[in-house]
Amino acid sequence: MARLAQDRSLGFASAQGFAYFDPYMARGAILDGRAIARSVRQAVKEEVDGFRAQYGRAPGLATILIGDNAASRVYIGTKERACRKVGIQSFGYRLPEATPASKALALITELNARPDVNGILIQLPLPPPLSHERLNEALDPNKDVDGLHLLNQGRLLRGEDGFRPCTPLGVMRLLAHTGLPLAGQKAVVIGRSHLVGRPLIFLLLEHHVTVTCCHSRTTDLAGEVRRADLVIPATGQPGMIRGEWIKDGATVIDVGISRLADGSLAGDVDFPAAKERAAFITPVPGGVGPMTVAMLLKNTLKAAHQQRGNVSPL
Ligand code: NDP
Repeated sequence: MARLAQDRSLGFASAQGFAYFDPYMARGAILDGRAIARSVRQAVKEEVDGFRAQYGRAPGLATILIGDNAASRVYIGTKERACRKVGIQSFGYRLPEATPASKALALITELNARPDVNGILIQLPLPPPLSHERLNEALDPNKDVDGLHLLNQGRLLRGEDGFRPCTPLGVMRLLAHTGLPLAGQKAVVIGRSHLVGRPLIFLLLEHHVTVTCCHSRTTDLAGEVRRADLVIPATGQPGMIRGEWIKDGATVIDVGISRLADGSLAGDVDFPAAKERAAFITPVPGGVGPMTVAMLLKNTLKAAHQQRGNVSPL
């Protein structure tokens, strides 16, 4: 039952529009993360309006940025704006680079106790010597909308309901949008971080995908990619997945984002060449990135409902 509810929340039940799509006939359909994220945000907005009407208060997300990493400032700004657009209250905390762990932990304790804060997000990476494991473990797991607390990671491992990390959730939502059945597909996930690769493996397993995980010590990456129906790189190595490695009709979800010397953004996949062979492919930018933010909003709504004893409507 929980599994079925999860499928619905990822959109598998609403993908009939693609029922007759033949991946061996068509090539290079773009999975438009911006458009799909927009529809998720619209659904969240409607539910947030309903929540506010019922409880007299919108769901709230606290964001914590420590230090002055330029990319992190952009990411956190995007998340805070996205909250406001759907009516989620955003509480932004900016702490200086030299913040001692005790001060960060005191803030987390305060936010854990606040009823108007339903979700808490600590922007990574943290400046050394702060340990993100230590700060994450201090979060109330019921407010851990990034899904990185040990308890939520354990729940994912066990296939139990909990908060799942936003980027892997976004990947699953993009896969749902293809309308292709996932059970029995062969996936290769390239990258094994706690933020992306590892949680994604378990989400794919929940949907009966056969998963291979590659990393920097994999000896035949090209061979692994050639055998895969679903190719999901998350390495941060621009263009390393070559177009000729992609099996005809495969689906390619490119998680990687790197800034090139000319200031442009690039994914892990050689997009123009891969597009000639893939049935579905995500662009960078405009693929997984917007989905990550949309899933954060969805997780915050879920947290607000669960803290009221409700099942999340999305
Ligand atoms: P990490 O650096 O934590 O992990 C990178 C992974 O890639 C590691 O497991 C590493 O292997 C593997 N890897 C690196 N080089 C190679 C290689 N040559 N061949 C095979 N595997 C390799 O990164 P994250 O998981 O945090 O992020 C990965 C990418 O995704 C980054 O570009 C990041 O910007 C992007 N990202 C995008 C998000 C979005 O919303 N679109 C959100 C989060 C991340 P090993 O373990 O052996 O070192």
